[in-house]
Amino acid sequence: LYIFEEPVGEVPRITYEDIGGLGNVIEKIREMVELPLKYRKVFRKLNIDPPKGILLYGPPGTGKTLLAKALANEANAYFIVINGPEIMSKYYGESEQRLREIFKLARKKAKKNPAIIFIDELDAIAPKRDEVVGEVERRVVAQLLALLDGLESRGNVIVIAATNRPNAVDPALRRPGRFDREIEIPMPDKKGRLEILQIHTRRLVKSGILGEDVDLVKLAEMTHGYTGADLAALVKEAVLHALRRHVPLEKSNPPTPEEVLEKVKVTFDDFMFA
Ligand code: ATP
Repeated sequence: LYIFEEPVGEVPRITYEDIGGLGNVIEKIREMVELPLKYRKVFRKLNIDPPKGILLYGPPGTGKTLLAKALANEANAYFIVINGPEIMSKYYGESEQRLREIFKLARKKAKKNPAIIFIDELDAIAPKRDEVVGEVERRVVAQLLALLDGLESRGNVIVIAATNRPNAVDPALRRPGRFDREIEIPMPDKKGRLEILQIHTRRLVKSGILGEDVDLVKLAEMTHGYTGADLAALVKEAVLHALRRHVPLEKSNPPTPEEVLEKVKVTFDDFMFA
């Protein structure tokens, strides 16, 4: 007997302050989602339905998940994640049932506050049906369509999906009443990279660990082609590089953690050689 764990979610703690370089995108998505939820009455009177589904597309690591989480946080919404590839492999043969359970949970939670279902890598669960081989995939796409259509159009459940291959998604999902709003999440430009670097070095600055020679503007200029995830990794690597200088592995008299924290400085070179 196989018993899968119950789907769960929570209200995330990520806020818009944690997202760099996506100011315009944030504004767009807030107008789309938050306004209709906050001013339900007004929108109802004007006969405008909040969207049921929004598709975020763009390269991996640019902040799609962060954005969905911040939105949920702001709307005080219960947030449930569906990982596309996972639901197809881990729950193989049970993917449809799993989807039904998740939508059921969302509807139950959405009685008071809204609920947001986030589908990461939508293309994995909803590939184009005329291109896919398996019957299973076809059935999962059909199930997702049915679940989307079953959501009340003025309901409290919003489905946000992310993909880096919007054209690989079955076109039926992109029709009105389904994922009918699409927002591009682009690679960050220089200004965006600076904002992202500032966010990811915030704690280092606060605790006085970031060296004064670390010029974030210069780093932003030097990191053309880096995504938000790449920049987050770069900061982590630089910190590790700095730590290695202060925490020698082989030493008879190793410094205490307090001594390390007091001494460690992350310099510009740590970013260069990380
Ligand atoms: P994927 O498509 O691979 O799921 P994604 O676009 O959803 O990627 P996230 O999971 O949101 O990307 O980002 C991964 C990590 O990279 C985040 O947890 C964060 O640390 C960092 N990051 C990415 N984009 C940004 C951003 N715009 N601002 C700040 N941090 C970012």
